[in-house]
Amino acid sequence: MKRAFLPCEKNELLYYTISAFDTTDLVINAFSSRKGGKSKKSFESLNLSVLTADNLEYVLENRRRLCQALGIDSHTLVGACQVHGDNIYLVKGSDRGAGALTSKTAIADTDALITNEREIPLILFYADCVPVFFLDPVKKAVGLAHAGWKGTVAKIAAKTVQALGENYGSNPKDILVAIGPSIGPCHYQVDRPVIDEVKRAYPKEWEELLTTSDIDGYAQLNLWEANLRQICQTGVPQENITVAGMCTYCCQENFFSHRRGMAGRQAAIIMLK
Ligand SMILES: [Zn+2]
Repeated sequence: MKRAFLPCEKNELLYYTISAFDTTDLVINAFSSRKGGKSKKSFESLNLSVLTADNLEYVLENRRRLCQALGIDSHTLVGACQVHGDNIYLVKGSDRGAGALTSKTAIADTDALITNEREIPLILFYADCVPVFFLDPVKKAVGLAHAGWKGTVAKIAAKTVQALGENYGSNPKDILVAIGPSIGPCHYQVDRPVIDEVKRAYPKEWEELLTTSDIDGYAQLNLWEANLRQICQTGVPQENITVAGMCTYCCQENFFSHRRGMAGRQAAIIMLK
């Protein structure tokens, strides 16, 4: 079977699920599009982040609609206040509902969530940054990471694989990973400070990640490839990794894109059944 993010349409919603994860029958997973929600203007329409200037009631209704389609109770979502860092939080049963209804209770200063407990839906938010999903079907543990350029050079995806090993005994060879819709190399121009950080983080490989010449002080950064490589370096086999290859800037009909000036956020969700 082809490894992919497969589109699902339910009610007015469109979301994507990871075929390799679905095959295990261990998890509910989704990456949302912006279709089928209640929000207006630059949040139109399925904005899922409470940390935006959007009407909170609309956001909570949007979350309810998506969760209902997935068979999840939206009151049990566990979300984080994301800061483009590399902190990883181990989610426990007592965290259930943290950040579900307000940002005040969300997990602070965190860009990755992992758990090995069942029926705790993890959620993180994106509008161009890279969503990375993790599933160890052997030890039965899951995770999500948020990797913009800062998280990517901080190697948050690789650190999440390591955290699964340290906390749940996961073997990288067993871990399935999926790199979701996010800004592609076609539209991700970065400037000198970012180029320098990429060179520092990838001393041997940066030429393959910065896809055009940087003679003017600018280059196109391939965040998908950068995350793929750091994940492979932890020992996860490349055949375990799904790359959506969908650019959020290109697909403005389906996705919010920060670089396009859109203010809404889509979400990644994963839950052990
Ligand atoms: Zn693009």
